[in-house]
Amino acid sequence: MILLKTDEEIEKLRVSNQLVSRILGELARAIRPGVTTRSLDKLAEEYIRDHGGVPGFLGYNGFPATLCTSLNDEVVHGIPSDYALKEGDIISVDCGVKLNGYFGDSAYTFAIGEPDPAWKALMLTTRESLFKGIEKARIGNRVGDIGHTIQVHAEKAGYSVVREMVGHGLGRNLHEEPEVPNFGRRGSGVKLKAGMVLCIEPMINLGTRYISQDTDGWTIRTRDGKPSAHYELAIAVRRGEPDILSTFKYIEDILN
Ligand code: MG
Ligand code: MG
Repeated sequence: MILLKTDEEIEKLRVSNQLVSRILGELARAIRPGVTTRSLDKLAEEYIRDHGGVPGFLGYNGFPATLCTSLNDEVVHGIPSDYALKEGDIISVDCGVKLNGYFGDSAYTFAIGEPDPAWKALMLTTRESLFKGIEKARIGNRVGDIGHTIQVHAEKAGYSVVREMVGHGLGRNLHEEPEVPNFGRRGSGVKLKAGMVLCIEPMINLGTRYISQDTDGWTIRTRDGKPSAHYELAIAVRRGEPDILSTFKYIEDILN
């Protein structure tokens, strides 16, 4: 069942999603060569608790951390560890919080130093595909319009779209209906209505779209070992423009 949100609930979701956005901004400050992914996780957990929230991923289906930190060929669900970031790595950081009963969920792929230009191009196109998808999140369009737009943008650049993991509704639950695939046919799927809150989150690979799961039961990586990028924002479907509840502003003010 798709739970439509009232204007009041959308404002609560904005607060939760703005908290996630600010955490990712703090991480943008901290990410540099030599920093361990575990220390990023600790920073995020402290920031969330200092601001009255609860980590949204910690304990979710048994996930052991606050952040998903997915390096290089890891697509999503990487577990923070003692690995120290090094020049040329890319890392996708996904963060969820629960605040006042509502979830925030956002992700961003960071470069450490100067990665391979082909990797940076992948990041740029993935970010672009997210915003192109968001543009389609309008009353009367369908979920397939979002996925189709993302897929076309990524594939036109020669990349592939991960199929097994998808975006989702967001509210009092971290994952609600509908699923929001990053691929699909125009005009297909659930019709978008005012009050739907969706996380749109393209996971785009430089090489094959096929993935595998590590023996840790979580980490998803590309089968060919080539890199993957992941960006996620939460949006509310409303009259007029898509209302973007989270933001990359805090991150990109630091990076640029
Ligand atoms: Mg996420
Ligand atoms: Mg999500």
